[in-house]
Amino acid sequence: MKRVALIAIAAVAAWLLPYGLGGYAIHVADVAIIFAILAIGLGLTMGVAGQINLAQVAFFGVGAYAVAILTTQAGLGFWTAAVLAILTAVVFGVLTGIPALRMQSHYLGIVTLGLALAFTNWVTNSTIAGRAEGISDIPVPPMFGVDLSSGYLFYYVELVVFAIALAFALFVTHSPLGRRLRAMRDDDLAAGALGAEIPLLRMTAFVLSGLYGGLAGVLYAGLIRFVAPETFNIANMFLLLAMVIIGGRSSILGCVVGAVALSLVREALLDASGYAQLGYGLVVVLVVVFAPKGLAGLPGQIRALLRRRTGGSRAQLGAFLPYEPAPAASGEVALDVREVTKRFKGLVALDKVSLTVPTGQIRGVVGPNGSGKTTLFNVVSGFYDPTEGSVELAGRGATGLAPYRLSLRGVARTFQNLRLFEDLSVRENLLLGLDRTRTTWIWRYAVLPWKVLGYERTLHRRTAELIERFGLSEVADAEPRSLPYGIQRRIELARAMAMSPSLLLLDEPAAGLNGEEVRQLADIVRSIRDSGVTVIIIEHNMGLVMSLCDQVTVLSSGRVIADGPPAEVAVHPDVVAAYLGDSMAAPTEETAEAAVEEATR
Ligand code: ADP
Ligand code: MG
Repeated sequence: MKRVALIAIAAVAAWLLPYGLGGYAIHVADVAIIFAILAIGLGLTMGVAGQINLAQVAFFGVGAYAVAILTTQAGLGFWTAAVLAILTAVVFGVLTGIPALRMQSHYLGIVTLGLALAFTNWVTNSTIAGRAEGISDIPVPPMFGVDLSSGYLFYYVELVVFAIALAFALFVTHSPLGRRLRAMRDDDLAAGALGAEIPLLRMTAFVLSGLYGGLAGVLYAGLIRFVAPETFNIANMFLLLAMVIIGGRSSILGCVVGAVALSLVREALLDASGYAQLGYGLVVVLVVVFAPKGLAGLPGQIRALLRRRTGGSRAQLGAFLPYEPAPAASGEVALDVREVTKRFKGLVALDKVSLTVPTGQIRGVVGPNGSGKTTLFNVVSGFYDPTEGSVELAGRGATGLAPYRLSLRGVARTFQNLRLFEDLSVRENLLLGLDRTRTTWIWRYAVLPWKVLGYERTLHRRTAELIERFGLSEVADAEPRSLPYGIQRRIELARAMAMSPSLLLLDEPAAGLNGEEVRQLADIVRSIRDSGVTVIIIEHNMGLVMSLCDQVTVLSSGRVIADGPPAEVAVHPDVVAAYLGDSMAAPTEETAEAAVEEATR
């Protein structure tokens, strides 16, 4: 209710604004709105999706120049040209996104910067773009007899476009797509394991960027009716960057606030633009150091400080509610790994490893550090392609598939060193696991937005159940990093189970847990198995392995050296030797077990 009231107040204020402004002031407002749309686009790619994009100003230029060229030289009407211009900008977005499939961070920054420079170079030198003089005489956009050459009336056109653009950006960021984009920004490997198609997601980010850039370009062409290269130069790219960083790159509203604020500052400092550049630079550095989430992040930062001051509350895990047992499957094979070899340059991490895991089993994988256990998981979950050999899931080939494909085939995993999305709440971490859609599903955002909202509601309902089941109610809205290690492990397990997997891979899930937590973990894993999920568990805690696993596979230096029931494997001479060196004399059952436990502590 409060939100509706705020939106209504903002809308009315924006609608009435021109009545209080003079001719020049309204022009400044018109330009500020265009910058705000550009900043939203940049916020989506850079802030939300984490793709460094220094070509936003070029998308802007492509939109504006396309309108200019198509109206003045091809003789098209303004709005026809506008639609084509936006499409062209989107195509440029896609082209700029291609390098992002191969490179990230500063490399991507350099490439996109290069593309932006190439664009200004091209317009400065090409006759069709009017060279350095640019293109004037862009026609006034016709609008049912309303004279849009007036800055006042154009303001209302911009306002409507801006409202729609803002609403769409907020819709995207607060929905499954936005959540996946943020997850990709935090940790693209973990996002891939949860079913996010990383290449397509990066492309989507650049498409959005192109769309918003093109839109801003069209409005600019309609407002100024003149385009020239210097509007789209690097100085303006940095101004745009400053807007997004100061406002708060991961918050769309923050980007808008930053854009409006800096547009006004820029106007005020027009006479001292050299110093202004220096000033923006300084402020950006200060913001990056002291308020990395920008203006939009300040309230949260202050709240976190206060919480630290008051000590904060010690979060507690609730009880786990067991799953419904399912009838045991018999005779089917969940995972078949055949003669898999994985080489890293000279090092053989896996050497002809074979193992067959029947459906509904808890399989232990043990072995000294560096024996290849995690590498085996990485091959099965698609992070590494095996150098040789094959992997089958439930009888179907699954060798070398991308992580998201394997996740859709029912493989879920946890990580040895926990890979929770740190900037997302616990609830959002779980929502990501529950979202099983493909990225191609997102055409609904444009055509059937209510379906997206309905789906989001369903996800939230199922997340609430999952939170309840895993006893996470108390921590559901916390950031994972603020929580004790044991709780983070539980969250990662819950996130993996959110995917309703058929095969669950747990990489040292008991590492860092206390005795009570290990006992709870054993109960949870048993309940997961009883519900029909096959579990493979890498573990150093021999007590847990002995009591939990139906069968244990022992790796040493990348080779399987034993495979069988836990009690048999523990006294296998090769196993004892691998753990203790060859000096060990023939052990009795008890000494072997004790020694193994000792060696792996
Ligand atoms: P474990 O999980 O059993 O402790 P790992 O599977 O992590 O062992 O590692 C097995 C061996 O493979 C180690 O020697 C490790 O250094 C090497 N290794 C693992 N991943 C890579 C990689 N990406 N590049 C190079 N070497 C790797
Ligand atoms: Mg490991």
